Amino acid sequence: MRIWANHAHVFPQELREEGSLDNLLLYMDSCEIEGCVAFAPLARQVRELGLDPTVWLAKAVKRRPDRIIAFGTIDLGGSSFKSQVKKIHDLGMRGIKIHPPGQRTAILADALLEVYAEAEKRELFISFHTGPHRSRLASLRVLDFDEIALRFPRLRFSLEHVGGYAGLREAVGVIQNNEHRPHTRGVGTVFAGLTTVFHPRWREYYLSPMMLEELVYRIGEDHIIFGLDFPYNDVNETKEAIKIINHLNISTAAKEKILGEVLHAQIAL
Ligand SMILES: [Zn+2]
Repeated sequence: MRIWANHAHVFPQELREEGSLDNLLLYMDSCEIEGCVAFAPLARQVRELGLDPTVWLAKAVKRRPDRIIAFGTIDLGGSSFKSQVKKIHDLGMRGIKIHPPGQRTAILADALLEVYAEAEKRELFISFHTGPHRSRLASLRVLDFDEIALRFPRLRFSLEHVGGYAGLREAVGVIQNNEHRPHTRGVGTVFAGLTTVFHPRWREYYLSPMMLEELVYRIGEDHIIFGLDFPYNDVNETKEAIKIINHLNISTAAKEKILGEVLHAQIAL
């Protein structure tokens, strides 16, 4: 099976060695992952190095364009959000990672509404962190993602961690509610990101195999995307996650979609 995974956080070697691009490639080899989406760091994480995280990542991934597809991040302390999105697009990136707690923003903030409009226009995919993160839960209410889907009807995005355990049912509702929306790469604009949901040590996000099977029943396999949360989950945890998916009581075709086909279809050039 050809595995493609979303959600790898990549950092300059000097900032975070275990999160380097070299390490990601080794990690992918160990887990037999063919390709993955790498997220640029947040602006504040690389400020001390004087780097623009998006420009840095766009350049770094040029080494392996066959295996790594880059997503940019938005500097919400900066200005002209529209031109930041345009820059991400012009650098050849295929999407944007938004982490509302990490970026201290609410998902319906004016700055982000500008980002969504431009991302929709440029056909960029957005991956959102969802679920408890010791920030204000009202800043990332799961039902508000339905508002985004409604206002930006061709914008495709994933709910990483599927709302967390606490938000799972609402996330299912948001995905179902928007599964009819046509866009240039298919139908249905909201996706479940199966990231950090496989290990019970993550109390906020863990979903049992039974819950995963139920998720596939509720929303089907065409809107589910496997993610790594590299480097926060190690090689063994990711191997275990792949094993869990492969052992679910769902069809082989469904497993292949979840482990790569859906993601690839949404972001490949
Ligand atoms: Zn993450």
